[in-house]
Amino acid sequence: MNSQTNKNFSLRLVLVVIILFSVLNLIFTVPVIPILGFHGIIDAKTSAPQSSLGVMHYPKQDLEKILEYLIRNNYWFLTTQDLYDFFLKKSKKVPKEHLNQKPILISFDDGYKTVYTNLLPILSKLEEKYGKKVKVVLFINPATLDRQRSTASIHIGCQELRDGLKKGFYDIQSHGLNHKNLTLLTREELIKELLQAQIKLRKCTSDLDPQQKVASHFAYPYGAYNKQVQYYASKYYLSSYLYDNKILDYGCLKNYYEIPRIPINGQISFQQMLEIAEGFHQTKSRSKC
Ligand SMILES: [Zn+2]
Repeated sequence: MNSQTNKNFSLRLVLVVIILFSVLNLIFTVPVIPILGFHGIIDAKTSAPQSSLGVMHYPKQDLEKILEYLIRNNYWFLTTQDLYDFFLKKSKKVPKEHLNQKPILISFDDGYKTVYTNLLPILSKLEEKYGKKVKVVLFINPATLDRQRSTASIHIGCQELRDGLKKGFYDIQSHGLNHKNLTLLTREELIKELLQAQIKLRKCTSDLDPQQKVASHFAYPYGAYNKQVQYYASKYYLSSYLYDNKILDYGCLKNYYEIPRIPINGQISFQQMLEIAEGFHQTKSRSKC
């Protein structure tokens, strides 16, 4: 080889290395945050896995294992306000203690009583064991809070919500007053669903929540929304969550009323959960960025 060919070869090699590095860099730095959407939490020992409960709800034994894994692997359990301030608006800098952590947001919809009876004891147990507080987001339909007089209610009551909030585990947010499909309502009905939900949730928690962080964010019931729903949601709430099986690419998201969430039902295995937590999940098309 003469010196010219040698030079060309080196140049090409450098070029290949640069391209390879850029591609790898792009793959590993896509800024994603998994946002998980659970419903109730069942005891796998007492519920048949094939029952309808086992499809929609998640076994507490598996959930405990997953939360333990996330704690041991240095995850940061975001509240809806954390996500909004640090990653969407970027109005606040990520605090030092969270800089080397992996963010994740874990939410539970519809206010099933089992987020109190089955989930809260797990959170307390993990706090005792690891000295870390796992924060969970609850998207609640406060019309069900009134039905507490019946002890058979399958939904969480105001006192139970307050208990989890006081202990610092619950981030209580709105899922509409009655869990209606908001795209099918008149303007007046839509406003009532959005606004009354906020008023009722804040009434239940007012003395514990001086900054009114409760019911500042929203999750569309059934994930259903349209332009009108989004417009009115933006009048009363800072952000809204979907249920579209996408992972949040926060470098890309411009509309805070279309935050993606990944539905988690009883069919999702422990291994699949870990892959989602690690960020291996479909994003919305990046071409929109
Ligand atoms: Zn729901």
